[in-house]
Amino acid sequence: MYKQEKFEGVNSIKFNRYFQSDEDCYRYLAGIKWSLDNPYKCKKCGHAKFGKGKKPYSRRCAKCNYDESPTAGTMFDKLKFSLLIAFHIVFKISTKKKGMSSLELSEEFELRQKTCWEFKWKVQQVMASSSNFPLTSEVHVDEFLIGEYERGKTGRSSESKKKLVIVALEILDKEGVGRAYAQVINRASAKEFKPFFKAHISKEAKVIADQWKGYLPLKKEYPLLKQMPSNKGTNLKELHIHIMNIQGWLRGIHHHCIKERLQGYLDEYHYRYNRRNNMGSIFDLTIRRMVCHKPIRLNNNDLKTAT
Ligand SMILES: [Zn+2]
Repeated sequence: MYKQEKFEGVNSIKFNRYFQSDEDCYRYLAGIKWSLDNPYKCKKCGHAKFGKGKKPYSRRCAKCNYDESPTAGTMFDKLKFSLLIAFHIVFKISTKKKGMSSLELSEEFELRQKTCWEFKWKVQQVMASSSNFPLTSEVHVDEFLIGEYERGKTGRSSESKKKLVIVALEILDKEGVGRAYAQVINRASAKEFKPFFKAHISKEAKVIADQWKGYLPLKKEYPLLKQMPSNKGTNLKELHIHIMNIQGWLRGIHHHCIKERLQGYLDEYHYRYNRRNNMGSIFDLTIRRMVCHKPIRLNNNDLKTAT
């Protein structure tokens, strides 16, 4: 049994000292994958005894000889670059205040942008909210648009497409603002609002929205929901600052994102935002989520629009 490790902090010097080789990263993953809570059990035959496998920290079943590496069956499966680089990318995306775009990652790590884009997409998948911790107390809700400009085939014509997003922000008594969540929706209707409310807002929350009729039917399940005129955003000031920050971030480094990807960016943004007072453990948490998440692959249509 390997000791379960936990890297804490956002300091890159400390990070570089801790993870010096692929082997260090394999050891870290093995510690998470086969822990005291989740001891080794052969994937093929269920046997619990093992010997040394081929790769560093791999385990070979003592009964059927099945060799399992720490990355198998995780989001680190079939990497196109070294595990050490993957750890560096996860560290950058999770601990840098604004994350890093696939272009910046490709420059920093001398990889193809598409390769970075694919891996970053995987990281974004594990950053999606678990929906286990709905917002409580006072919660401000609104929708906003995110503009998208798609280049025409000739590169001259441009067509504007807007995406609608619903966002909820927790307002705390003394400490200002709490956590927030956002979700891409097709239209501003109660039907589209409901799943978002259900996933992210406690029924006891004091929800405040503007006077849009789409919020009315939600009062049944959210008895404390109040509607007030938005007055061009002056009534929900903190929320509108939050929206401006999201828009600014998206404009800054991710100016071209397809609809399917926008949710990934919103998840990434809020994953960091909701842990802004607890950044020390964010890298370890992200790695843990990557180990527990089943490997997923992008289909070719997703890749065509990669940025
Ligand atoms: Zn076996």
